[in-house]
Amino acid sequence: MELLRPSSADEAAAALGNGSVALAGGTELVPLLREGLVRAETLVHVSEAVPRGIDGTRIGAGTTLAELEVDPQVPQALREACSLAASPQLRSMGTVGGNLLQATRCWYWRLGFDCWLHGGEQCFAKDGAHREHAIFGHELCASAHPSDVAAALLALGATLRTTRRELPIAELYRLPTADDRSTTTLAPDELILELDVPSPDASTYLKAMDRRKWAFPLVGVAAVRAGGGVRIALAGVAPIPWTLDAPAALDDATPLPGTAYKVEIARALVRRALALVGDSPRSP
Ligand SMILES: Cc1cc2nc3c(=O)[nH]c(=O)nc-3n(C[C@H](O)[C@H](O)[C@H](O)COP(=O)(O)OP(=O)(O)OC[C@H]3O[C@@H](n4cnc5c(N)ncnc54)[C@H](O)[C@@H]3O)c2cc1C
Ligand code: SF4
Repeated sequence: MELLRPSSADEAAAALGNGSVALAGGTELVPLLREGLVRAETLVHVSEAVPRGIDGTRIGAGTTLAELEVDPQVPQALREACSLAASPQLRSMGTVGGNLLQATRCWYWRLGFDCWLHGGEQCFAKDGAHREHAIFGHELCASAHPSDVAAALLALGATLRTTRRELPIAELYRLPTADDRSTTTLAPDELILELDVPSPDASTYLKAMDRRKWAFPLVGVAAVRAGGGVRIALAGVAPIPWTLDAPAALDDATPLPGTAYKVEIARALVRRALALVGDSPRSP
């Protein structure tokens, strides 16, 4: 396997695709390569090609979660989401760009089962073990998006700048379909360079997990008060980060037998998060 270290974003993007993948902190990619879940002939190390650091509302995609969680320029919801993610060691290696693109934690997928998301015929989780899985958007794949950070950025109304375009973070994600089973809209040779995260009036991120520390979200709730309204986004409830138009939208959840408990957790966390940001949400 070859390792490239391009010094500019253009050079890095030109080296991507055709069997090469971007490598940032490697906390997600290296285990996937080791397990054979991602195959690559060339790794393109992007540490010198992607901006790192925080300047007002602009955040380089190469900024680590550890840097984000302590910077007072960063909105509280994002700081809290980072500080509740993974372990201190992983947060000091893992970048925000890599966090947004992490793969599902579904064990069928991670163990290499030929499930629907891997190109097979069937979602094994739906009839099998699915306690950590979705309550929304699971028609074809019942996985639950694991990124605390993405939910916080979604509620904050962040936009991304890539080597090709600018887009609201909501447009980075898509529910997989029979024609295209990917959960993001990022092209194989496209790099996330920077995020713009508007400053809210108030924001918070709350997370329910199996352990008090170092666990993926069973349910994560970001609430943001800005511009006279409140936005809510959830982690751990759908194959992609999920916008909740209002608390009552939880009545539309379609939990699996083993995930019904998540609806009640989400209700409690949404209630608490809204109290913390000092507002009630816009009507649906
Ligand atoms: C044990 C464990 C527990 C964790 N717990 C949590 C948790 O509770 N909550 C949470 O939110 N996250 C959690 N994570 C995820 C962790 O935060 C991510 O692994 C990390 O942020 C990924 O960043 P990285 O720089 O290491 O990415 P890499 O591993 O280098 O890359 C990850 C993916 O992103 C792509 N990529 C990286 N940077 C770019 C870029 N700039 N442009 C385009 N593509 C890019 C890579 O090609 C790869 O596909 C956990 C991870 C582990 C291993
Ligand atoms: S939830 Fe998605 S990743 Fe998990 S078994 Fe079903 S199709 Fe595969």
